[in-house]
Amino acid sequence: MRELKTVIDEIAAEYRACEERGQVATYIPELAKVDIGSFGICAVTADGAVASAGDAEIPFSIQSVSKVFTLTLALGKIGDALWRRVGREPSGNSFNSIVQLEYEKGIPRNPFINAGALAVADVVLAGHAPKVALGEILRFLHFVADDDSIQIDEAVARSEQATGYRNVALANYMRAFGNLSNPVEMVLGVYFHHCAIAMNCVQLAMAGRYLAFSGRHPTTGARVVSPERARRINALMLTCGHYDGSGDFAYRVGLPSKSGVGGGILAIVPGKASIAVWSPGLDGQGNSVLGSLALEMLAKRMGWSIFGA
Ligand code: GLU
Repeated sequence: MRELKTVIDEIAAEYRACEERGQVATYIPELAKVDIGSFGICAVTADGAVASAGDAEIPFSIQSVSKVFTLTLALGKIGDALWRRVGREPSGNSFNSIVQLEYEKGIPRNPFINAGALAVADVVLAGHAPKVALGEILRFLHFVADDDSIQIDEAVARSEQATGYRNVALANYMRAFGNLSNPVEMVLGVYFHHCAIAMNCVQLAMAGRYLAFSGRHPTTGARVVSPERARRINALMLTCGHYDGSGDFAYRVGLPSKSGVGGGILAIVPGKASIAVWSPGLDGQGNSVLGSLALEMLAKRMGWSIFGA
């Protein structure tokens, strides 16, 4: 196995110079302002070592990566009862599709498509004020990342709130099927704001450690979730974490991962590492172009694919 820091530095040097970067998301106007030339990467290993390179300390909008953390909280609240409201199958459809919801009677395919994440936000909200639910999400992130400075980017939240017509449609549609119990505006408020959380690669890699290390917080040894729950969240990340690009991502990279339209990806190497990569240019499915390539190279050079070398 090559030395991790050397590999991370090589990857950052290669991809920072790369010209084929995809397109930044423009449907959330605030995200369109991000510098497409940014590239950051960080990996945290079982021994606590942190290897990072590039723009690893510049915060970005984590967007759908936040759905991993809200899923963890919702499972903590209602456990397997969540699966009566959300499925566990890849959707094969785009992240904001409404089509499937119609013939599957308001039960979203999985917790990572937008409809599924709205049901999860409804569970986290649980009759409280949106502020309370968002406080709980932030506190959880502060705990798992060991970093109290993580915040919501209010400009991004407002930008998405002003233009999130599809999500408004999805939420209303699910409410019509009885799959949201809180007022639609409150569920959307929580959803838009948790998607607007800003983190850098180091913070995100730190936050993912409980999934890499059997549900434990590695610095304190505290249990965040059971080993079984960590394993199952990883399984969902592998099968559903990249929307309709999930199969291809598993084929190329072979790691449980979750992408976001801010260009971030959190990837888990069970037992070995938690990795975050950020490059804001996206492919047609909304996944970071260079982020995916960087993870493919990292998994290959470190022998980290869960499917073997
Ligand atoms: N907040 C984004 C949306 O709802 C999240 C999408 C994503 O990151 O994939 O459209």
